[in-house]
Amino acid sequence: MAQNRGIGSDLPDKMRAWVLGDPEELSLIEKPMPTPGRAEVLVRIDAVAICATDLEILTYGTPALIEGGPPFNKNYTPGHEYMGTVAALGPGVDEFVVGDRVTVEIHAGCGQCKRCRMGMYTSCHNYGLNYGDQDKGHRANGFTTDGGFAEYAVNNINTLIRVPDEMTDEEATLVVTAGTSMYGLTELGGLVAGESVVVIGPGPIGLLAVAVAKALGAAPVILVGTRESRNEIGRKLGADHVIDARSEDVVARVKELTGKGADYVVDCAGNETTVNQAVAMTNRGGKICLAAFPKNAVEFNLGALAVNNIYLYGIRGEGRSATHRAMAFMEAGTFDASLIHTHTFPMDDLPTALKYARERIDDAIKVVVSNRPGVVGGPKPAKDKT
Ligand SMILES: [Zn+2]
Ligand SMILES: [Zn+2]
Repeated sequence: MAQNRGIGSDLPDKMRAWVLGDPEELSLIEKPMPTPGRAEVLVRIDAVAICATDLEILTYGTPALIEGGPPFNKNYTPGHEYMGTVAALGPGVDEFVVGDRVTVEIHAGCGQCKRCRMGMYTSCHNYGLNYGDQDKGHRANGFTTDGGFAEYAVNNINTLIRVPDEMTDEEATLVVTAGTSMYGLTELGGLVAGESVVVIGPGPIGLLAVAVAKALGAAPVILVGTRESRNEIGRKLGADHVIDARSEDVVARVKELTGKGADYVVDCAGNETTVNQAVAMTNRGGKICLAAFPKNAVEFNLGALAVNNIYLYGIRGEGRSATHRAMAFMEAGTFDASLIHTHTFPMDDLPTALKYARERIDDAIKVVVSNRPGVVGGPKPAKDKT
């Protein structure tokens, strides 16, 4: 059965994997099969979603960090939003069995530093220290260790989330994205029922932040965006109002819709304009989450935060097991994360898939590559209504 291909007793001793040479230079090679250690399993990768951060890594190297430096020409395999099937167990693992369908979060912190002990393993103090004499056991697959553009990867069991039978491979790859949105709302306090939430920027994390905020009971949920095709998906995911940033005064409109300003703002765009909008649209005593990384220094009215008792939170990745809470909503069908999945290509066509994601060809949002036999490539098939 295809389901049991390459797992358990059928495990090959080599695998195919894409590796990064010079910037933008990917090649498909054979690598030895990785071996899971204590508290780890080998995952047969079935599908992996492409993230904007993958595109950054391919071009600039950062934020990937291999052996303490840039990831180029180190036999490193990128890709971090993958799902698959447990193919082998490391010593002592009884939490999973071979054949379990799982999706992954990125960061297995060192488990011993102050931040890991607080559940903030995406901010591990031993980030990237997983080599030579400094090996602290930290893994961030696709960033500091090999990732998912391959046939197999090793994962710590604390990075695995079970996938329900009826969920598609593609939807399961979106858990880490939804988990990042969930982490942002968790850091803001999580108690958003009946509170107003504004999400700026309808990228994958922003769109799923709309969905998660709505699922957590926020009211109203307001999305600020520019592309109508994406704003429309935001409406389907639960936005009560959508503000077109090109034609409307964003701050004035938020104040009109909320009375005194937003209780919570999640900035998923991270540029000078949106940071300033976030500060200006937040109610006194409100909270702002920065879910995007502004590339350059940003000028904004810091004093307005103090005068208005506004709290500012930065988040990195998907900490505090937020992926599990996101999966609970996805499994219950509270929102349909697959609305942001637009294309699937075979793993061999990774360069084409990356091009679709980078150039947003055919309104691409989340582009997935698959190791499943029979995947042809292109837009996702129309959903069967069951
Ligand atoms: Zn990502
Ligand atoms: Zn740590």
